[in-house]
Amino acid sequence: MSTSAQPIFARVALVGVGLIGSSMAHAIRRAGLAAHIAGYTPRAETLERARAAGFADSLHGDVASCVKDADLVVLATPVGAYAALAEQIGPHLKRGAILSDVGSVKSAVIRDVGPHVPEGVHFIPAHPIAGTEQSGPESGFAELFDGRWCILTPPPGTDAAALEKLKNFWQQLGSQVEVMDARHHDLVLAITSHLPHLIAYNIVGTADDLATVTQSEVIKYSAGGFRDFTRIAASDPTMWRDVFLNNREAVLEVLGRFSEDLSALQRSIRWGDGEALFNLFTRTRAIRRSIIDAGQDTAAADFGRGKKKP
Ligand code: NAP
Repeated sequence: MSTSAQPIFARVALVGVGLIGSSMAHAIRRAGLAAHIAGYTPRAETLERARAAGFADSLHGDVASCVKDADLVVLATPVGAYAALAEQIGPHLKRGAILSDVGSVKSAVIRDVGPHVPEGVHFIPAHPIAGTEQSGPESGFAELFDGRWCILTPPPGTDAAALEKLKNFWQQLGSQVEVMDARHHDLVLAITSHLPHLIAYNIVGTADDLATVTQSEVIKYSAGGFRDFTRIAASDPTMWRDVFLNNREAVLEVLGRFSEDLSALQRSIRWGDGEALFNLFTRTRAIRRSIIDAGQDTAAADFGRGKKKP
């Protein structure tokens, strides 16, 4: 059982107990937000690992029994699995319950889940802007959402009291909450998250294919910049495949602009236009400064990795 005297929800069901689901469970326990945390994961092997990690009050290989009687149900699997899961859980959701999720795309979630939400259930999609390149039930930790943003994208006509309750829930998990239209969310995240991941996957793939530079050289000299891309490019392949398949329009829009800007850089290098390069690099350095000032990253050199071990 969880430790709180006054939980917000009697039963929270986490459909998916990987990095995000298990981190939510830890943070829910830390704040005492639920009397009972139920977790679902389809594979017996993951179920065993989740059991060993010990963050849930009950674990289920069957999604219907996980969501039964829950006041808050959160989908936390790759978004490509949402439609089938929503169809399965729809008939078992309690009247008055909140159905939410943590998926990295939002319009596709409303498209896939919306039709399966029964009358009397409040469907409020959410996206915590917090994560790591790790996955699985042992990778979660309670502090993951501390000081990070969580974006809620309630469809028009969402019940105000349910929205307020979910906002409060995320704030108590440690997040700052923003409410946004789903399409706008998808465009913002396409540039801040999806495109950077695509670039990282691409550059690591390019290096791997480069026949004139050996793989051992790529690894040996990776601190020159490559290493930071490999962290992002180590992110879960299923999750990211689903992100690109489900935010196609917004990603293609920002990718088009990115390609044009890259061509302009290519031209500057070809024609020796040092001023253009210098001006761009000065502008981008200022953006790094604003991210640090906003408390979204450390100011330590090399992300604090440069410190000598005692
Ligand atoms: P994860 O660590 O890989 O865990 C995925 C969970 O979903 C596991 O319990 C897995 O169960 C289950 N699952 C996988 N495929 C499934 C399927 N077809 N049907 C039913 N269950 C399935 O994933 P995660 O990183 O927590 O990501 C979960 C969600 O959070 C994604 O929608 C992602 O977009 C979103 N998100 C991720 C991050 C991040 O940085 N990772 C950040 C913000 C939001 P089995 O192991 O038993 O198959």
